[in-house]
Amino acid sequence: MPRPLAAPPARWLARAGAATARSRAVTACSTAPRLATLRRSTSTSTVSTSPTSTTSTTSPTTTSPTKTAPTQSTSWTRSLTPACSLQDLAFQLFDVLDIERTVLAASPRFQAHTRDVVESALSTAQQVALRHYLPHNRKSDLQEPTFDPATGKVAIIPEVKAALEQFRAAGLCAAHADEDLGGMQLPSTVTNALMVPFYAANIGTASYTFLTTAAGNMLRKYGSRQQMERYLAPMLEGRFTGTMSMSETQAGSSLGDIATKAVRRADGTYAIVGKKMWISGGEHDLSENIVNMVLAKVVGPEAPNHTPAGVKSISLFVVPKFRVNPDGSLGPRNGVSLGGLNKKLGWRGTTNCGELLFGEQGECVGELLGEEGKGLSVMFTMMNEARITIGFIAAALAYAGFAASVSYASERGQGRAVDNKDPASPPVLIKDHPDVRRMLLLQQSYAEGALALCLYASRLVDRTHQAAPDADPALLKREALLLDVLTPIVKSWPSQWCLESNSTAIQVHGGYGYTRDFAVEQHYRSARLNMIHEGTNGIQSLDLLGRKMLAMKGLPVLLDAVRGAVEDARAAPFADAALQRRAQLLAEAADRLERTTAALANAPLKTALANSHEYLNMAGFTVVAWMWLAQETAAARKLAGAASGGLGPDETDFLRAKRRASRYFFAYELPRTKPQAELLQSLDDVLLDAEF
Ligand SMILES: Cc1cc2nc3c(=O)[nH]c(=O)nc-3n(C[C@H](O)[C@H](O)[C@H](O)COP(=O)(O)OP(=O)(O)OC[C@H]3O[C@@H](n4cnc5c(N)ncnc54)[C@H](O)[C@@H]3O)c2cc1C
Repeated sequence: MPRPLAAPPARWLARAGAATARSRAVTACSTAPRLATLRRSTSTSTVSTSPTSTTSTTSPTTTSPTKTAPTQSTSWTRSLTPACSLQDLAFQLFDVLDIERTVLAASPRFQAHTRDVVESALSTAQQVALRHYLPHNRKSDLQEPTFDPATGKVAIIPEVKAALEQFRAAGLCAAHADEDLGGMQLPSTVTNALMVPFYAANIGTASYTFLTTAAGNMLRKYGSRQQMERYLAPMLEGRFTGTMSMSETQAGSSLGDIATKAVRRADGTYAIVGKKMWISGGEHDLSENIVNMVLAKVVGPEAPNHTPAGVKSISLFVVPKFRVNPDGSLGPRNGVSLGGLNKKLGWRGTTNCGELLFGEQGECVGELLGEEGKGLSVMFTMMNEARITIGFIAAALAYAGFAASVSYASERGQGRAVDNKDPASPPVLIKDHPDVRRMLLLQQSYAEGALALCLYASRLVDRTHQAAPDADPALLKREALLLDVLTPIVKSWPSQWCLESNSTAIQVHGGYGYTRDFAVEQHYRSARLNMIHEGTNGIQSLDLLGRKMLAMKGLPVLLDAVRGAVEDARAAPFADAALQRRAQLLAEAADRLERTTAALANAPLKTALANSHEYLNMAGFTVVAWMWLAQETAAARKLAGAASGGLGPDETDFLRAKRRASRYFFAYELPRTKPQAELLQSLDDVLLDAEF
């Protein structure tokens, strides 16, 4: 008999004792074997890593890099690790987004959670990422998965499975899930923050769990009780993994052109026949079963070889690698087989199927998820979640590159100050050259700005999807529209500009950054994917301008939110001249975006959409400036409060660094939106004229 949904898995019961979400979370975090106790001051704790660790440092004054095993602090201090700064995550969650008031207290679903629970969970995530994900990041890049056509099996280095087991054992597979499904019921804002250390440490391994979480959330929303028992419960236990099976060779951006078919069977299931391409995590032995979420078109017996055109004929199917018996045990192999793996630029630890074949080796049975013909709109649940995740991944990789850059620039000696005429004087550290500082500030402002944006969007997910029953419906509608408007920006701005940040990290390392001895080149290769998958940035730009701004008229809610932050900064009793000045610059940028959108709205649609890429960039830099003003306002508030005592020198340094990065972004980055506005308002149509 399938396990009833109301009964939490035994694993949780054993661990949790009292059955509240809060106690479960605390217990899950505090009983795992490797957890550090929560500290909010300078840490003395270090976690040793294996010598295969990805980050190397150089001796300050030699030109030959000596690889040494890094020391990774897990403190709540400014010190950056190759994962990320917990201090920054906590600042963004509690001081900028004020999630205690705006998320935890705002919804009955989250009310049992406190700041302590969240901090403890962040600490756990950082520990697991540093101990179990980071050490094999380079190894899985060098020894990527291989496929043996004779056996149909994929070989993956054992560290990947071991790391996923640690992730599961720490309770992270179900961190987001409902209490009655055995989860911790943490908000998305928190669960997304928890994943940042994993993405930064080893995206190749972390991708398996993010795909599973997103597939599980879709099952939770649209699945029948039986589907949840069969598939979702083992996903939350970490026994099954999930995939998103949409793309085909001829149908990537244009999913309306997929050719995979679903033929109704007498028992209400469907026979799936077709070939998918690019499917991440489509084959491996890391889990007991793989639950593929497959888009296909239902064909009738009257026309079995005809797949109707367009997206309205697409349905979504749950297609497991192994069929699942009614009692939850694994049945025979379903007809899903691997045709080959892609050899990729980055994310090499993640298997990526060159061909995932359905119905070629034995019958492939799928179960409908949702209704026939509504497959794409159901899949959008997973796609929208994945788009926000891509923003997080891009931000996390930029974070990792920034951490490596700060570390390298703090040790590498080269050259002398321009006003030092003494050739016999010792070299200075490269971080003392203004141009290197420029590169460090660029990375900080892109990584932390992107992270702020992703967290802001996650908060909108919590506020709109998990609102209290008495929440103001008008406010909910506005926040839902704001989330719609921001989603393409969250996916695209970090994808493009955090890649630039990863490129800049290589530049900070000079020639060494271009070698495979240093982690930054791997970050760069991995980050390059983010502009391509989950809807290319070109497709996102059409979505932003054509759908969200022009058709859905989403600009006013965005401008209201931006102008609200401007007013908050201006009205703050602690606002000094610098903060006022930056509030003014953001107000002008918002006006520019308004004028530019109006000009495009009045242009022929084809001309407007031809310029959507530039528009996306302009909107992106404006939105990230908004995120920086919000961060700087929070930092200034804390610093002003510190006048009466309470902040240690470390936190003061952290907050001053926030203000400095904001100053950099407003001075060097936001001004890009002026020529962008000029170009867009000129309605140039060279992109329509060009011929090749
Ligand atoms: C490593 C990797 C992992 C992936 N994982 C998955 C996965 O797990 N599941 C899955 O289903 N898919 C996955 N994909 C597929 C990915 O989503 C597609 O590659 C992506 O959607 C683009 O499709 P395409 O490659 O066919 O390119 P195309 O759609 O052919 O696009 C090529 C170029 O043309 C542009 N273009 C296309 N159409 C338009 C248009 N209408 N207007 C303007 N420009 C346009 C694009 O922006 C792009 O620059 C993965 C891809 C990679 C590389």
